Amino acid sequence: MAENCIFCKIISGEIPSRRVYENDRVLAFDDINPMAPVHVIIIPKQHIPTLLDMTPENIDIMGDIISAVREVSRIKGVDQKGFRTVINCNEEGGQVIFHLHLHLLGGTKLRDDLG
Ligand code: AMP
Ligand code: ZN
Repeated sequence: MAENCIFCKIISGEIPSRRVYENDRVLAFDDINPMAPVHVIIIPKQHIPTLLDMTPENIDIMGDIISAVREVSRIKGVDQKGFRTVINCNEEGGQVIFHLHLHLLGGTKLRDDLG
């Protein structure tokens, strides 16, 4: 738990969220400002700031996040038609919240522009 981290506060319940899937290591919830009909944020329960903070000690969490992608895609009904996953890293990558997270986007044909 990091102080002043919005996603740590979502994990603790201090900030409410619409939870989609959860286990002891990861949490998935609806994005508050969805960019697509399905837009879910998947986070580790451990506070890891960015993708570049993955180390041999914590890299296993990526497997847990990918496993959650499978669960969430089924729960949201986009597993057959498809979806996109995005991890933004640091400023030019568009990262705004510095608690590692994966975006799962779907429910429509997604455009390909990268901004
Ligand atoms: P990023 O730009 O990759 O850091 O993405 C952060 C995402 O978190 C954005 O898509 C926001 O809409 C989303 N977000 C911010 N605050 C909340 C919140 N309280 N509940 C759900 N999603 C949030
Ligand atoms: Zn955090």
